[in-house]
Amino acid sequence: MLTVSGLRKSFGGNQVLKSIDLAVDQGQVLTLIGPSGSGKTTVLRCLNGLEVPDAGTVAFRGGPTVDFGGQVKRRQLMALRDRSAMVFQHYNLFPHMTVLQNIIEGPVQVQKRPKAEVVHEAEELLARMGLAGKRNDYPAQLSGGQQQRVGIVRALALRPSLLLFDEPTSALDPELVGEVLTAIKELAEEGWTMVMVTHELAFAREVASEVVFMDGGVVVERGHPDVVLRNPRQERTRQFVHRLL
Ligand code: ATP
Repeated sequence: MLTVSGLRKSFGGNQVLKSIDLAVDQGQVLTLIGPSGSGKTTVLRCLNGLEVPDAGTVAFRGGPTVDFGGQVKRRQLMALRDRSAMVFQHYNLFPHMTVLQNIIEGPVQVQKRPKAEVVHEAEELLARMGLAGKRNDYPAQLSGGQQQRVGIVRALALRPSLLLFDEPTSALDPELVGEVLTAIKELAEEGWTMVMVTHELAFAREVASEVVFMDGGVVVERGHPDVVLRNPRQERTRQFVHRLL
């Protein structure tokens, strides 16, 4: 469903991604792990056009192949953005908008879908995430776990082909991590295709179809979680995994 090839990105003289290849099949959960600064977030941001890579191609099945080595057209970038939705580490909800307004903003204002339909769908999604009755609350009235579940509903309401999660639980108090991971696990079981940056290795072991270990802007090792997390082939992976487990 998604194929990424030769992705490169520098910030000034700092080459953050040095030719990254990834492939995600329909219904797969790919987790990206690696030390701070290894480029994981930048990969996600390149996938949905929040950053423009310097080179490489990104292709969704049934969509155009965007070649960042050439002249990238705005239309291609918008097509890429439409395919995925991101759940951010710090939720990134608009503080001056209610829960419902946060959720319907993208589908109504950007995707131009009928408001009544979007509101109906948002209410169903809120109920599914255990947030029925919260539609008129403001983000500050909610716990971190509830805010992140609103962040997930906001992403789902965009009807993306691919969900991107950027360390979705790392800003949460430990007692709130479980409720968010459970919600994400349920989405995986429903067959959503996901790429998730996480330090939750136990979660990755349970839910991921593939684990990709990045360090220094390259993919060091990738494979089934039982291999990469339990019996890695590369010494760098072994050291990282042992530090976290
Ligand atoms: P973490 O686990 O700490 O979130 P990461 O693996 O997700 O790390 P990135 O956030 O992708 O790493 O950052 C990789 C490198 O790119 C870092 O050195 C970071 O400082 C740099 N970087 C990221 N975004 C920018 C930017 N907009 N401008 C300049 N440098 C950036």
